[in-house]
Amino acid sequence: MDPLLYLGGLVVLFLLWIKVKGLDYVIVHQRWIFVCLFLLPLSVIFDVYYYLRAWLIFKMCSAPKQHDQRVRNIQRQVREWRKEGGKTHMCTGRPGWLTVSLRVGKYKKTNKNIMINMMDILEVDTQRQVVRVEPLVNMGQITALLNSLGWTLPVLPELDDLTVGGLVMGTGIESSSHIYGLFQHICVAFELVLADGSLVRCTEEENSDLFHAVPWSCGTLGFLVAAEIKIVPASLWVCLQYEPIRGLENICRRFSEASEDKNNTFVEGLQYSLDEAVIMTGTMTDTAEPDKINRIGLHYKPWFFKHVERYLTENKKAVEYIPLRHYYHRHTRSIFWDMSSYSPPAHALVSLMHAHTHCY
Ligand SMILES: Cc1cc2nc3c(=O)[nH]c(=O)nc-3n(C[C@H](O)[C@H](O)[C@H](O)COP(=O)(O)OP(=O)(O)OC[C@H]3O[C@@H](n4cnc5c(N)ncnc54)[C@H](O)[C@@H]3O)c2cc1C
Repeated sequence: MDPLLYLGGLVVLFLLWIKVKGLDYVIVHQRWIFVCLFLLPLSVIFDVYYYLRAWLIFKMCSAPKQHDQRVRNIQRQVREWRKEGGKTHMCTGRPGWLTVSLRVGKYKKTNKNIMINMMDILEVDTQRQVVRVEPLVNMGQITALLNSLGWTLPVLPELDDLTVGGLVMGTGIESSSHIYGLFQHICVAFELVLADGSLVRCTEEENSDLFHAVPWSCGTLGFLVAAEIKIVPASLWVCLQYEPIRGLENICRRFSEASEDKNNTFVEGLQYSLDEAVIMTGTMTDTAEPDKINRIGLHYKPWFFKHVERYLTENKKAVEYIPLRHYYHRHTRSIFWDMSSYSPPAHALVSLMHAHTHCY
């Protein structure tokens, strides 16, 4: 049969099924169809577009020139709100579905939305060891650029889509936080548009009260329009040691010991039951033992939490060398273990598409 006719037949059957069962039923009970047919292809197009856009803009150095214009645009929106009498509160105009959150804030519908379309890396200053970014720059964008230049953030929250604005105004933590602290602790300057429309820069020395009040303020003090963040030299690999541990006390003790040892650049524990965990400790290195290399971000590799679980089941310690960027985004494909709530066909597609669009 002509493949087009065959496809047409399938589409008609699918539509009939939706008509009989109802769209709500199909979306709720057969989520994977919606995910595979619509959500994933759309998110691939979205990611590829943003990746190419970010790359082109950085190469053309056009972001710094546009930045001032974008800031003026935000100031204009805030001043308009004041002129209108400031009747409602203001909030960022970023829709809830774009954020890494399970909550879709209703306040976005009633408050004055200030559109902050600022998603570019403005400058990488290797002399001062600082990167200056706009608030919608995300972690995937940062590792793609910085790691290729031989630099990285000391604290790199692992999901690609987490943004600098969200991590500063909300919070951010990562497996290197036992050394460097939270995401806000690696920030050296914030630039904000305040409720009167003025632009303010704050650092440890300049407007220091504001500088210390911004983290966790969830946008209540002003709109973040840029941040300067410390960078450190990056290596090619993470040498990761896996250690299965049993017994809650042993798990807590081993995790504390590993965190106190500052030779461990990365410390992470994944707990599989009340009494079973795998503690991982890692260091950056430029050399790797070839037979211990594991490129965990490739699409055919098991999800990271599943891979780690194997060491618990087999009750054995192990050492692996993981490419730095694969390590950083180790939980992106599976969103920790959330993705396992989808059905098997979605598993396969999600793994494949995320590996291609997010990792490499
Ligand atoms: C499934 C899941 C996994 C997660 N994994 C991690 C993780 O691995 N590591 C980690 O550290 N955290 C993690 N988090 C928590 C996450 O860091 C926070 O929820 C974070 O604040 C979300 O970032 P976002 O970029 O989506 O920000 P948003 O949700 O968009 O924003 C967070 C807050 O900051 C405010 N804000 C954002 N931009 C601006 C701006 N320009 N000006 C003023 N205010 C602003 C918003 O109004 C909001 O109050 C996870 C959360 C979920 C749901």
